[in-house]
Amino acid sequence: MSIKGNLEAVEKNIENACKASGRDRSEVTLIAVSKTKPVEMLQEAYDAGIRDFGENKVQELTDKYDMMPSDIKWHMIGHLQRNKVKYIVDKVAMIHSVDSVALAEEISKQAVKKGVDNVDILVEVNIGDEDSKFGIVYNQAAEFVEKIMSFSNITVRGFMCVAPIALNPDENRQYFTQMKQLCVDINAKMGNNSSVNVLSMGMTGDYQVAIEEGATLVRVGTGIFGERDYSI
Ligand SMILES: *Cc1c(COP(=O)(O)O)cnc(C)c1O
Repeated sequence: MSIKGNLEAVEKNIENACKASGRDRSEVTLIAVSKTKPVEMLQEAYDAGIRDFGENKVQELTDKYDMMPSDIKWHMIGHLQRNKVKYIVDKVAMIHSVDSVALAEEISKQAVKKGVDNVDILVEVNIGDEDSKFGIVYNQAAEFVEKIMSFSNITVRGFMCVAPIALNPDENRQYFTQMKQLCVDINAKMGNNSSVNVLSMGMTGDYQVAIEEGATLVRVGTGIFGERDYSI
């Protein structure tokens, strides 16, 4: 199947999940996760209307940033080392993978230094409590947000998670429900002026379920670009 055909299929699934859960299609943004894929493939997705792309490596993101149209919103979705923040802070629409106070501090510091008024960030939550995954422990996520909320030139917009690998996407529904609850609880605490309304969750295997449980950003790679080949 072509990238355009894949995108049409993904779009159908998103619409169906929105319908099934009484949500408006406009509440959900599809991020095309293009890691390891050549810019020719990104361009095909771009030509089909995609403007949000997700990358997990700093070097790859900045290379593609230089080669692709300037109206793209780049999402940093991978683990981010503090010493690399300076390369992307003025290039990304959102950093999904903030998992330490030190990293939030560095994003704030580099944003100030480079004159970037605001960087939207998400707090990564290790929702399945897996040793192999990055992210804040679920029960500490609210406290973590409070710690970093007042840092200059960054805005905590919500949460991101990578759910455990599941044979059946329904197995992850419980995790997505918990993520949504975290958002609801924070908003109850912060009141009307809360900026925390983004939930980045759901990948190729489980994005429909994630949408049904409240995802506002879904990150789909394989379902758009096909399997990744890490051997080349
Ligand atoms: C690779 C990746 C994705 C996309 O995964 P697919 O299963 O190919 O859709 C989403 N989120 C993160 C953080 C990733 O690293």
